[in-house]
Amino acid sequence: MADNVCPHCGHVNLKRAVYCFECGTALEQNKPIKGMKPRHQTELDDTIEINIKDTDPQLGVPPSIQEIADARATKELAAQYHDFLKCLRCGTENLPTSEVCPRCGATLMVPDEHYGLRLVVSARSSVGQVRSNNEDNVGIWARGGIVLALVADGMGGAAAGEEASRLTKEAVQADFTGALRGSEILQELTEEEVQQKLRDALYHANEAVLDKINEDKSFQGMGTTATIAFVRGNRIIVAHIGDSRAYIVDGEHGWTHQITDDHSFVEVLVASGHITREQASIHPMRSVLYRALGQVDAAEADLYTQYLKAGDCLVLCSDGLTRHLEAEEIGEIVRRVSDPEMISQELIDLANMRGGEDNISVVVVKAVQDDSTIPLEKLIVINIEDERPPKSSDNLFQTAQFGTFDLDDILNSPDEDNPEA
Ligand SMILES: [Zn+2]
Ligand SMILES: [Zn+2]
Repeated sequence: MADNVCPHCGHVNLKRAVYCFECGTALEQNKPIKGMKPRHQTELDDTIEINIKDTDPQLGVPPSIQEIADARATKELAAQYHDFLKCLRCGTENLPTSEVCPRCGATLMVPDEHYGLRLVVSARSSVGQVRSNNEDNVGIWARGGIVLALVADGMGGAAAGEEASRLTKEAVQADFTGALRGSEILQELTEEEVQQKLRDALYHANEAVLDKINEDKSFQGMGTTATIAFVRGNRIIVAHIGDSRAYIVDGEHGWTHQITDDHSFVEVLVASGHITREQASIHPMRSVLYRALGQVDAAEADLYTQYLKAGDCLVLCSDGLTRHLEAEEIGEIVRRVSDPEMISQELIDLANMRGGEDNISVVVVKAVQDDSTIPLEKLIVINIEDERPPKSSDNLFQTAQFGTFDLDDILNSPDEDNPEA
């Protein structure tokens, strides 16, 4: 099992991870990608190789790096935290508003070129008022304006629940991050291919949870929900297992639509007319799931697709939110508050005010109209001298050299390895 140990920090990564989940070290080279179509194989090399040696140290370190370092230092202990945005090209943590990854130069939260939609995100998790530990995990990743978002709600008690949801986050990251996992071609994948990738990610997450249980029997019985959304242009593709939820709030007409169906026993009882929704909300088995990761050999995900337009907002959340808030109340806050960071905070605050019986996690992805061009000419990059720069923000702070340059210079500079290009 322990065959993908990070040489830099010692973290035991999932086999499929290309970059260390903890520190961002590159873990493996040139492994073939299973299941990718031949037309994609030729496009896997990084499209823009950024390795600038002579950057200008006068420009200093962007304040965002220091902000991340400060935020990281407090996250571990916090009863509530907001999560970072991870780069799908290299796994580095960025602030949720970052346009460019400082380590690899990939664009992150930029407007989509076809629809002029810019996604604005927030991922936040609270331990709640009753529990002593947080078994939820949230994740947000981006590249080139595409966003991948995750809520996973672990179960199985204390450390086990945390482990199941963390493994799921690692598995999703491992399946989407790095050129070897197709991060260069996310724009070109068909919707069916995206659906397959999401399904595969949850399949691998399930495998990771089961492997852990087999390895260490003290984790017996752990499991997790997983709701993942892939947002590209005007489309949302959701893969889902369990009773976390995805909602879309329409910015124009104001309606709130629950995208996912809960895989809980009470939901089946409601659907078959045996109990009312009110009875379901106080039913003793309300948190018992009939489908979750870690429970069966191959947990099948449900898939959904939705259109997205400017003003619309996608909300992913764990049941710690929905046991205290009705869909209409979520919609009301989303429409009244414009900033996603404030939306996620208000949703969590309200659930906590009403008792906060469980861990509460919220990921908000809002689409805003932005017809400005992608600011590639303002790329800021770190001088990557070897393939294993430490990702910890403190180390980034010490070792980074920054500079700005023109994209045209890069694109027009002769490619020494490939004179025909
Ligand atoms: Zn590491
Ligand atoms: Zn990056």
